[in-house]
Amino acid sequence: MKTIYTDNNATTMVAPEVLEEMLPYFSELYGNPSSMHSFGGNVGLKLKEARQKVADLIHADPGEIVFTSCGSESDNAAILSALAANPDKKHIITSVVEHPAVKNLCQSLEKEGYRITFVPVDNMGRLDTDILYAAMDNDTALVTLMWANNETGVIFPVEEIAEKAAEKGILFHTDAVQAAGKIPIDVSQAPIDMLSLSGHKIHAPKGMGVLYVKKGVKFHPFLKGGHQEGGRRAGTENTASIIGMGKACELAGSHLKEMDTRVRAMRDHLEAGLLENIPAATVNGEKDNRLPNTLSIGFDAVEGESILLLMDQTGICASSGSACTSGSLDPSHVLMAMKVPFESAHGTIRFSLSTYNTMEEMDHIIEVMPGIIQRLRDMSPFWKKH
Ligand code: PLP
Repeated sequence: MKTIYTDNNATTMVAPEVLEEMLPYFSELYGNPSSMHSFGGNVGLKLKEARQKVADLIHADPGEIVFTSCGSESDNAAILSALAANPDKKHIITSVVEHPAVKNLCQSLEKEGYRITFVPVDNMGRLDTDILYAAMDNDTALVTLMWANNETGVIFPVEEIAEKAAEKGILFHTDAVQAAGKIPIDVSQAPIDMLSLSGHKIHAPKGMGVLYVKKGVKFHPFLKGGHQEGGRRAGTENTASIIGMGKACELAGSHLKEMDTRVRAMRDHLEAGLLENIPAATVNGEKDNRLPNTLSIGFDAVEGESILLLMDQTGICASSGSACTSGSLDPSHVLMAMKVPFESAHGTIRFSLSTYNTMEEMDHIIEVMPGIIQRLRDMSPFWKKH
């Protein structure tokens, strides 16, 4: 049975070109980039190249790129740095639909005495910017918002919000983990102070992250140790993964057009096919303002986990809500914040595509999904009540 992988917002395959670039740095080229000898120094030169490629993807300067261990670390480092840089300010603004890497840290900071404004979204997943702007005050240390949502793909107007934050002298961080490689990101176009990326969402390895820190922004690292990354992140560099990240960013930049055209067309075809062939199905999120690869779709009166199990038997991989929350039977915090009706939220499946998917795969999904949903609905007391 062939696997059809449509769970790319959870993680992606390491691109063959990325792996090829990385492999020598596990074996023959294992030097420490900080060493005085050229054996290590040559690895340092390769890291410099990788840093440039990452910077190019987001139109930054290589000196503004800090390599970390994952997107979650980048988010934590940004938020904690903003607080350390503004010890007198005790307020953070974020949204109700952030990834746990931001949400859980903010909730724990709230317990420590910080004031957190969790800005709500409407039933399309759009941020209430009136509430957001009204919440900005002299005590606000940071606004931290995701660029695009991992579950619905809904894109937030981060550039506009960064401008407003800058006008008030408030630091602005964005979690661009899901936006990167799917839509253009240009930090030179808006006063974004910090921005997080994750390798494994863009065909680089897992355990690789990036934090962009705008030149001039005071950075306070929470990890104390050696002077790597310009004193902004201690620890001997994960050389192979950094080199892989460089290659992945180069590929991501060259695939942006394909994301906007071929991948978008596959997503739209899948969406239209499912809506046409399955009754009582609803797309979650603002249709015209989503990542081109993401489809979150709820099927009334069935359980997402049961759908996933039957899909799995036919070789199709997807998620119910967010990969991080599957395991719990409650609808995800994102769908609940959007007030998606309970019976549709419970039956929500997220398909997330990559450039490795094909239209034939979409046709296959469209062919098998109606049978899967019908089979489950035939057993569902909730469906019989319809
Ligand atoms: N932020 C968002 C929006 C994500 O989707 C994820 C991963 O799912 C992360 C942060 C965390 O990234 P990592 O898995 O590299 O820690």
